[in-house]
Amino acid sequence: MAVLVTGGGGYIGTHVCVELLNHGYDIVVVDNFSNSSVEGINRVKTITGKTFKIYQTDLLHKRKLIDIFEQNSINSVIHLAGYKSVGESTEKPIKYYANNIISTINICEIMKKFDVKKIVFSSSATVYAPSNNHQPISENFPLGATNPYGRTKLIIEHFLSDLSQSDSDWSIGILRYFNPVGAHSSGLIGEDPKGVPNNLVPYLARVAIGKLPVLSIFGNDYPTMDGTGVRDYIHVVDLAQGHVYALQKVESTTGIDRYNLGTGKGYSVLEMVHSYEKASGRKIPYEIAPRRKGDVAICYADPSKARNELGWVAKIGLKEMCQDSWNWQQNNPNGYEGDHPSPLNALKR
Ligand code: UDP
Repeated sequence: MAVLVTGGGGYIGTHVCVELLNHGYDIVVVDNFSNSSVEGINRVKTITGKTFKIYQTDLLHKRKLIDIFEQNSINSVIHLAGYKSVGESTEKPIKYYANNIISTINICEIMKKFDVKKIVFSSSATVYAPSNNHQPISENFPLGATNPYGRTKLIIEHFLSDLSQSDSDWSIGILRYFNPVGAHSSGLIGEDPKGVPNNLVPYLARVAIGKLPVLSIFGNDYPTMDGTGVRDYIHVVDLAQGHVYALQKVESTTGIDRYNLGTGKGYSVLEMVHSYEKASGRKIPYEIAPRRKGDVAICYADPSKARNELGWVAKIGLKEMCQDSWNWQQNNPNGYEGDHPSPLNALKR
């Protein structure tokens, strides 16, 4: 029996695969590698010393999904595949709605066909309505995404809820990520954004290594301790472990549940800069820029539901988040690029 991991080649996916394998699960990975690298999969094999099947397939191709279910004994799915750039989603809503929503419908349709009804879905804190007054955010906080990417996540959450209502055999876990950062302690897998990073920590990493000249801090006039935005940064290994705990719950129950995956602690942009300077031993030049459209001042999780119902808590602190990010950045100054070309035949067996 295996867990099908969609998007297993990506930043979150590779770390989830490592944790699943370390917990004794058999896995099958499907990824179209549109925003990830086959080399990440090779490195998962190196870290764990285990091997598994990988399909380079787009979830929009139902026939190929059927093949995967026919060729493997799959009894649950962790669905991570999807486009994830907020900025790009505002420019290309068709791409985001078509890919993220239709691929989820396809995977659920094929799961139903094969009577596999256990799924963990990767959602995001971006589904919560923006608020500067009510923190921390618990799962019953009002919903209301403010960009197309977030709306695809919200629509999928509604779809999964309808699915659960329609058939009580389904067991569904929805994980709302806060701000995943850091990398595996081996320095072999990590975040490898294409082009200029949008998110703070990969941007800091590129400035620290000298590939980008200066960090723009988007606003220093927020009502926070130092005026810069506050977020709940969570180590990607903690986040990945959250998927294993959620899967265990999904395997043993039915129904649908949503869980925040965050630490419950917020850090400002300036605190992140200082922590990254310490981790890297380098000065990080920054300048104050105008606020970024759509940003809220403060956003951090109430993670108590995951603690109480899954037995999961985030354990890794800010220092390690920055150290592991820096370790990954130093070991892989060009990300996965250059180490291997992308085609599937570059896969290590
Ligand atoms: N941020 C920044 N400069 C950057 C990228 C991000 O000042 O180049 C700030 C952003 O305004 C927010 C925090 O860093 O307060 C985290 O932003 P990120 O894009 O990483 O995550 P978000 O919480 O927006 O999804």
